[in-house]
Amino acid sequence: MEGKAVNSQALYREACRFMPGGVNSPVRSFNVVGGCPIPFLRASGCRLWDLEGNPYLDLVMGWGSLILGHAHSRVASRLEKALARGWNFGALTEEEVRLAELLCQSVRGMDMVRLVNSGTEATMSAARLARAFTGKRRIIKFEGCYHGHSDGFLVGAGSGAGFLAAPSSEGVTDNQVADTLLLPYNDPGALKSAFEAHGDEIAAVIVEPVAGNMGVVPPSEEFLPQARELCDRHGALLVFDEVITAFRLHFGSAQDLLGIEADLVCLGKIIGGGLPVGAFGGRREIMEMLSPLGGVYQAGTMSGNLLAVTAGLSTLQTLREENPYQDLERKAERLEQGLREAAREAGLPVAVQRRGSMISLFFGVGEVKNLVQAKSSDLDMFATFFHEMLKRGVYLPPSPLEAWFLSTAHGEREVDEVVEASARSFEFCAEKSR
Ligand SMILES: *Cc1c(COP(=O)(O)O)cnc(C)c1O
Repeated sequence: MEGKAVNSQALYREACRFMPGGVNSPVRSFNVVGGCPIPFLRASGCRLWDLEGNPYLDLVMGWGSLILGHAHSRVASRLEKALARGWNFGALTEEEVRLAELLCQSVRGMDMVRLVNSGTEATMSAARLARAFTGKRRIIKFEGCYHGHSDGFLVGAGSGAGFLAAPSSEGVTDNQVADTLLLPYNDPGALKSAFEAHGDEIAAVIVEPVAGNMGVVPPSEEFLPQARELCDRHGALLVFDEVITAFRLHFGSAQDLLGIEADLVCLGKIIGGGLPVGAFGGRREIMEMLSPLGGVYQAGTMSGNLLAVTAGLSTLQTLREENPYQDLERKAERLEQGLREAAREAGLPVAVQRRGSMISLFFGVGEVKNLVQAKSSDLDMFATFFHEMLKRGVYLPPSPLEAWFLSTAHGEREVDEVVEASARSFEFCAEKSR
């Protein structure tokens, strides 16, 4: 590395001088679990190496964006080829068309798509489009679903009369969230009541079809069908935020697995293969309202960037050819069973929740179906467990509200390594709580 040779702690101290909290995204800061975040030097497959050369088995995997593992050889070689051609023409490239084509072929109901730079941009733009299409102003979102950090989606606990919500970040005004209705996840009754009260004002319902930002929380059987039915009845759009789930659970979107069709779908993470790409798309008549065809403005200097699109395209092409999803399912199930068994042996009550290769662990609770239940889990014990796992070389997301992700680079041996480390870590937690 160029510049001053530094160790991890010195680098973090420097980071804190120049960057708020020493990070560029809050959850990286270890705020929830305590301690010093680890800067990494390099990564390959399912492993990360810190500045001191220590290896870690990674279950963060670029927050779910790296389903093929770090530095996948095919993605890397395509990136190198693209790099040699120059990387920002500020104009159309063939790679953009191929990625858009592949997304439209594989995401149900997606006639057209717009590429953006992040999941945040995708959901923010989809909300604008839904409002324009329906001529209505309110958006329903669910507690514990994360749709990026645009003002209107930064809504935490519900407050006061009706279903109106208060902003969950300073700097967001009541006005900016006045049109956001906040409801509990997995509660079809609350959804019905909200539509009864505000039906003619609701532009869209936005939802993670399998929630991955309050830990992994699958939808109950009635929840999404109810949302679809109410949207149809009241002329609102159903927006699936599949930034995590698309191409994670199978080759395509969660719509196929759940048997529910959304009107707009938001994408991110995997479709950029670890580089910044987001997207939103849906029916032609809706998408044609976007500028330059229509009057809904949406733009981006970096949107469709050659390198980002190349990483996404080669990731998706590899997934389509190799179809690794059954294999991922098998390994993730092995991890799920292993964690359950290890916790049972240590005498610790835990909830292990999983869909496909996304998995999460809550201490001290039964099944978690919504944010209130997720937050009632034992956070201190998670923090202890996190640091015990870290000592044993396993890098978990530093919060119980974040999903763990397997990639095709994790073999059975690596899964067993995680289970082994968790058995020791559970024992430590049990010992400590005695
Ligand atoms: C990560 C995420 C986002 C935000 O994406 P960014 O690229 O971080 O802006 C939006 N929705 C969901 C479901 C996500 O998991």
